[in-house]
Amino acid sequence: MRSIAILGATGSIGTQTLDIVRRYPERFYACALAAKADAEGLFKLAREFKPRCCALVNESKIPEDLKRIEWFFGEDAAPRMLRACGADDALCAVVGIAGLDAVLTALDCCKRVLLANKEALVTGGSLVMEKARHLNRELLPVDSEHSAIFQCLKAAQGNPVEKLILTCSGGALRQWDEARIQNATVSQVLQHPTWRMGSKITVDCASLMNKGLEVIEASYLFDMPQDKIDVVIHPQSVIHSMVAFEDGAVLAQMGKPDMRGPIAYAMGHPERLPYGQTPPDFAALGALTFEAPDTKRFPCLSYAREAFRAGGSAPVILNGANEAAVEAFLKGEIRFGRIAQIVRRALNECKPQAIRCPQDVHEADILARAQAQKMIRALPPEV
Ligand code: MG
Repeated sequence: MRSIAILGATGSIGTQTLDIVRRYPERFYACALAAKADAEGLFKLAREFKPRCCALVNESKIPEDLKRIEWFFGEDAAPRMLRACGADDALCAVVGIAGLDAVLTALDCCKRVLLANKEALVTGGSLVMEKARHLNRELLPVDSEHSAIFQCLKAAQGNPVEKLILTCSGGALRQWDEARIQNATVSQVLQHPTWRMGSKITVDCASLMNKGLEVIEASYLFDMPQDKIDVVIHPQSVIHSMVAFEDGAVLAQMGKPDMRGPIAYAMGHPERLPYGQTPPDFAALGALTFEAPDTKRFPCLSYAREAFRAGGSAPVILNGANEAAVEAFLKGEIRFGRIAQIVRRALNECKPQAIRCPQDVHEADILARAQAQKMIRALPPEV
């Protein structure tokens, strides 16, 4: 029996993780659950899974029947919960840079960290990887592309890797022309063609920022320079990613697009846990297609690569401006095309600094958000 703390328990990844816990009650105990604001959702999960500890960022009145649980509130509720709960594993599915402190604390307290939050690596990758190495912790990717690469690398058997190939669905706007992309609405952008995910990441998929963040994530996780990480659009989302070797051979990991795949793989690792999914029906699929990403229509992919090349806090600036812009877009304050413009300007206007500690990350993040907010306020009303 492994005890697991789930951060972001009420979100898309969190609830799918609890699906796996529900299937394997003899193997997993969800000993700690953390959510940001969905108190009612968390209470419901707490009644079903009976954790020892729970955390909520927004303080809330605790129902009588849940008072035997140890509760934590506030911005740092999840890290404090992690220190108290004694979990073997932590699954970190917090949205955005808020995941960084959670991941660093999880590395301190837990044997294995199942990583669904990519912003922690984008903004504090060297800090996270250094801590994982220093404490000899297992960091298991839950992002589908990175889980795929992780699985393919098991077959490398010490042979050098030529490159990593990240696949990308292309998002909801893949076939749209530039002018239409600029004015895409929230509901259009949230129509992901293949994956069911939370709203922030689904917006990032439509702008291809998600793939840019994933290049950075892959570089840290697999210690691979970014010029050895390719991106290819693959609209069917059957190949989750690939690894190419020096002899030209390529290994791919395939499956239906179902986030429970990478979640169950990380939870059961090194064992594969069935979760009710079947292999793809290749004859019914007919064809798997590929195309190059168009960075003219979707410049965020190039901005992410550029920020990563610049180094220091540049990826933090990219990420902070993007988080602020995506939030404004989801609230209807700006049109979709503004997201890329805001990120571009933040990169131009904030000078990258060295990152030595988490505080450096937070300072760069605050600066980037302030810069983005200033731009958002200066824009004429448009939606
Ligand atoms: Mg992904």
